[in-house]
This record gives sequence, structure tokens and C-alpha cells, in this order.
Amino acid sequence: MVMSGSTNASLPPLLAPRPLGKTGIQVSALGLGTVKFGRREGVKYPEPFNIPGDRMALRLLADARDAGVALLDTAPAYGTAEARLGGLLSGWRDLWTIVTKAGETFEDGASNFDFRPEAIIASIERSLERLRTDRVECALLHCADDDEAVLRAGALHALSRCKEEGKARAIGASVKTPVAGMLAIEQGADAIMVELSPGREAMLPVIEAARAAGVGVLIKKALASGHAATGADPASAVRHSIGFALSQPGVTSVILGTINRDHLASNIEAARVSLKKV
Ligand code: NAP
Repeated sequence: MVMSGSTNASLPPLLAPRPLGKTGIQVSALGLGTVKFGRREGVKYPEPFNIPGDRMALRLLADARDAGVALLDTAPAYGTAEARLGGLLSGWRDLWTIVTKAGETFEDGASNFDFRPEAIIASIERSLERLRTDRVECALLHCADDDEAVLRAGALHALSRCKEEGKARAIGASVKTPVAGMLAIEQGADAIMVELSPGREAMLPVIEAARAAGVGVLIKKALASGHAATGADPASAVRHSIGFALSQPGVTSVILGTINRDHLASNIEAARVSLKKV
């Protein structure tokens, strides 16, 4: 179990860090999504699940980091995920690249959205407290269907202030629509997070535009939130989906959600095989 040492030197070469756009931040080609570390209501996964206890969560984190998966994606909207990570990463936080978000919270079974500048700034400060850290490597607007309006209203400027103050090293937006993805790039985002999986490919032009502009691209829902793994041959569908996302030239890192150590191991193996071919 890796719990100390330098961030990059010991990483296996196939998952070795790559630049997140022009930020100077290095991220592993695979990241671990943490929705299921902290929230089980109001999610669209194919099966119900139990949130893992601390022992299991720590094992998953250790497995991931040992294999070179050094990127964690979280958000205030993921229930207790940020606060749990704050405890679980105590003593080895600096071995991780952490992405969090602002603009959405999830309380009493419902999402609330607030993209006013003061709400965004307060959200990042709360995230730092929960994560027990003084900065995150990347902070994204946690946009919903009205992502274009949120960006046009200037929400990215509030995150810029967090960046100027050193609370987030890079900023950007997790978006739903291609138009908002393009807008985030135009507005100077360092990174964007977009959905991509076989058959859900509307973001490909945005990924290409990000590549051309030197903007980092993080992929969410590469397994269609698990629905890619429900057919006749789930293992090969998962391999295909991971390979599909990783083979797009503009993609920096694919954030996969799992709380199952076997799934994590097979996802890492699929990524290794795919990256060998690139
Ligand atoms: P995903 O990564 O496409 O799929 C996760 C689901 O796939 C889980 O239910 C997981 O179940 C299952 N899975 C993973 N590996 C598997 C394997 N090898 N075989 C079979 N099933 C497998 O979807 P996601 O969690 O929605 O998205 C990934 C991450 O992106 C999230 O955790 C979050 O960090 C981020 N995200 C961001 C936004 C946003 O910003 N708006 C939205 C969605 C997601 P097990 O736990 O059983 O493995």
C-alpha cells in the first residue's frame, strides 16, 4: 500500500501522469470518481448499493494509488464523499490530485443549485475544510441542464478568484451540453469535464476544441454510469468503453466510478491495454 513518497516517481509507466492542459498539473490517465463513497440517493446507477465503510474505502484508494491512479474526483453534491476523503487521505493527501466542484449541493434527497459568486467561493472554502486541505488541484462548476446560462452569467469568474487566492490551482466546468463546453473553453477554463461513452458521443467536437486550445479534458460517465456493463458481455463492454474514451486524442483522464476492488482492477488493466495501443 503506497502511503508516502513522491507523487509521480513511483507510478507505473502506462498510467504515468500527463499534463492537464496548460496548467502544469500532472494527472494520471485514469481517475477514481467518488459519488458512491458518499451518496446513494437520487443517482442513476443500474443497481442499488451500500456506501463502503472506511476499511473498504481505504483499500480502494490504496489499490488505486498503488496502480498509479492518483486522481480523485469529488463534489459537495456527493453527500459525505468530501468529508470522508478528508479523513481517509489524512497523511497521504499530497500523493493525490483532487478535483472538486461548486454550484450544486445535495441535501435531504434533493439537489440545490447556487452559482452566485459568493456561494461558489463559500462552497470552495467548505470543500477545503471537509477535505482537510489548503487547496484543490482543480475546481469545476458543477453544472446542470442550464449550464450555458450559468457560464454566460459569469460563474467561472468566481472560481478565478479562488484560483488567484491559491485555493484551486486550476478551474473549469463540468458541463452537460456541447454549447456550454465550447463556452467554457472560450471563457478560459483550464479544464472541462464532459460525458463520453460509445453511443454518447455528442461531446467529441468539444473534446477536439479543448485539445486545440490546450484545455484539459476529464471524462465522466465513461461506462454510461454502469449501464454499459449490463449487457450480455459486460467485461468486454467495459473494456471497449474505457478504450474508446482513452483513445480520443483530446482526453486527459477518464474518471471511473467504482466501489468494487475487482472492478477497479479490471478497469486499470483495460486502461493499460488501451494505452499500450495509443
Ligand atoms: P461510470 O464511471 O460510467 O460508471 C460507474 C458505475 O459503473 C458504477 O455503478 C460501477 O459499479 C460500475 N462499474 C465500474 N467498473 C465496472 C466494471 N469493471 N464492471 C462492471 N461495472 C462497473 O459513472 P459515474 O460514476 O456516473 O461517473 C464517474 C465519475 O464521474 C463519478 O464518480 C463522478 O466523480 C464524475 N461525475 C461527474 C458528474 C458531474 O460533474 N455532473 C456527473 C456524473 C459523474 P461498481 O461500484 O459496482 O463497480
